[in-house]
Amino acid sequence: MTPNYPNRILLANLPTPIEPMPRLSNLLKGSELYIKRDDLTGLGGGGNKTRKLEYLLAEAEAQGCNHVITTGGLQSNHCRQTAAAAARVGMGCSLVLRGDKPSILTGNMLLNKLFGAHITWTNGDDPAEVMDRVAAQQASMGNRSYQIPLGGSNVVGTTAYVQAMQELSCQLQEISLNIDTIVFASGSGGTQAGIVLGAHIYDVRSQLYGISVSRSAAELKAQVGALSTATAAHLGLEMINVVDRIEINDEYAEPGYGVLTAAEKEAIELVAEKEGILLDPVYTGRAMAGLIDLIRWGAFTRNQRILFWHTGGAPALHAYADKL
Ligand SMILES: *Cc1c(COP(=O)(O)O)cnc(C)c1O
Repeated sequence: MTPNYPNRILLANLPTPIEPMPRLSNLLKGSELYIKRDDLTGLGGGGNKTRKLEYLLAEAEAQGCNHVITTGGLQSNHCRQTAAAAARVGMGCSLVLRGDKPSILTGNMLLNKLFGAHITWTNGDDPAEVMDRVAAQQASMGNRSYQIPLGGSNVVGTTAYVQAMQELSCQLQEISLNIDTIVFASGSGGTQAGIVLGAHIYDVRSQLYGISVSRSAAELKAQVGALSTATAAHLGLEMINVVDRIEINDEYAEPGYGVLTAAEKEAIELVAEKEGILLDPVYTGRAMAGLIDLIRWGAFTRNQRILFWHTGGAPALHAYADKL
C-alpha cells in the first residue's frame, strides 16, 4: 500500500525535530511528554499550514496560476503562511478575512501586510462569494487565481499530513521511541485526517487524540472521516476506512474559537517557563490546556509516553498581549 504522492514545492524545513519535555513532565508528575516541532517548519513564522502549502502551491503552479486566494479569521495562521509561501514562489496573494478591518495591525495581520498580501474584509458576507469576487477582479487584471479553502483542508492539503506520518514513523524508529498517544489541536480537520490516514498506511499504532478548538466532536469527526477517505482515493489507494482511529475531544472548545481563558493562559505560561517553547493562544494553547487537564485527572498513567504535535501559531500571541 504505497501512496502515489503528487509533486510538491519545497517550502518547509523537514523533518521537524522531536524533543523531550522533561521539566514539564516532571512538573505534571504524569506521563513522559515529547513534542514534535511543526512550529519550526521555517516559512514566515512556521506552522502546520506550511506542509499543506507545499502541495497546494505545486498544484497552483501546475494549473498555470500566478495568484492565490484563501480565507480565514483575523489572526489566521493559515492565511499568514499562505501569504509567505506566495511571496516565496513569486505569486500574488489575496486574503479574504472574516470581519472588519482592525484599527491596529498586530500578530499575523501585521505579517500579512509585510508579506505583501492584498486583504479583503468579508464585512459579514459569505467568504466563498467574496473569494469568487476577488478572483474575478484578479482575472480582469490578467491574473489566474488558485483558491485554497479554509485551513487548506482539502485532499491536496491533507496529503501533507499523510506524508508527515511517514516522517514521524521513520523518526520514532530511528530513536527507538514508542509513543502511546499523539495529541494535537484540530480545527478544520485536514491535519487530523492526514494523521489518521498516515497512521494506517505507515502502521503507527499510537492512539491519535485530536482536541477540537471550535467544532463539536460529531461535526469534526464527520469532516475528518470524509476527508481521509477522499484523500486515500486522491493518493491512488483502495478504499480505506479509518473512522475507528478518529478520536476527538470537544470539551475544551466550549469558550469558542479564539477565546483565551485562564486554562490557555496557564498552558502557554507553563510550556514557556518550563521548556522555552511558545504555544499559540488559539490552537496549541487550547490543546495543551486540554492535555494538562487530562493528565491532572489521571486520564494518562505515569509511564505512558505522549507526543504533543506542535502545529505553530505563536505570531498570534502578540495580538493577545493585553490578555497575557
Ligand atoms: C490551522 C491550525 C491548526 C489546525 O489544523 P487543521 O488542519 O485546520 O485542523 C492547529 N494549529 C495551528 C497553530 C493552526 O494554525
